[in-house]
Amino acid sequence: MVSNQPQMFRLSQNQLNLLETCPRKFQHIYLEELGSPTSPEQQEKLSWGSRFHLLMQQRELGLPIESLIQEEPILQSWITSLVSAAPEILTPTSDAFRQSEHRRTLNVQGYLLTVIYDLLIADSQQAQILDWKTYPQPRNRRSLAKDWQTRLYLYVLAETSDYVPDGISMTYWFVQTPPQPQSLKFTYDAGHHEQTRQDLNRLLTQLTVWLQRYQETGEPFPQVLEALDRCDNCNYAIRCQRMRENSALNTRELVTNIADIKEVSL
Ligand code: SF4
Repeated sequence: MVSNQPQMFRLSQNQLNLLETCPRKFQHIYLEELGSPTSPEQQEKLSWGSRFHLLMQQRELGLPIESLIQEEPILQSWITSLVSAAPEILTPTSDAFRQSEHRRTLNVQGYLLTVIYDLLIADSQQAQILDWKTYPQPRNRRSLAKDWQTRLYLYVLAETSDYVPDGISMTYWFVQTPPQPQSLKFTYDAGHHEQTRQDLNRLLTQLTVWLQRYQETGEPFPQVLEALDRCDNCNYAIRCQRMRENSALNTRELVTNIADIKEVSL
């Protein structure tokens, strides 16, 4: 994603979220490529998620998936319960346009904002964006409304189609929520659209300034306010000199203990 031409930056909702959470973290991960390794547990969750999305895409294309899920009882149960919880969505009954993994790109201030809808269903009046989530519990509704995935997905569709904001919605389906999948739907309107336009332009204007200073003078991106308590669990706390006293003590203890360990000759 790093380029000498900032105007060609491709940005996703995750990068916008990160920029708002902590610009310095954005710098560490995307400009310095200091991403932390994925744990085996995270890797397994990612693998479940991508296999589920792939099966849902194949199902939407009308390709047989039975033989693929026979050996995968968990995936099979997620798909079966989602289909029974949302039959009107997952079983085409009209001649509405439907496409899984539908991709759109919008250029704002030279940044290419890219979204990929798990499923888009659209008729002459309305367009529904659907997104599958394979983590167990629905997230807090308010935080999901503020998440850049919700805001950007709705915004990009309104900007790149003839639909008015009131004709667009976005629904998350949480497939791994017992006893059956649950959904959270977000409707849209002109007021939300205008607010997102302003917030997006503000964030991208800031990004341009930060990038320019970083590239021309090496000035680092701003750090999040310490009082917001976001640094304690951050992988970059040492690099950012944001270790709390207790954490610093623990680190000193660790260093002392390591120094105490006798060298073993081989
Ligand atoms: S330690 Fe704090 S300032 Fe540094 S990247 Fe993490 S959240 Fe941002």
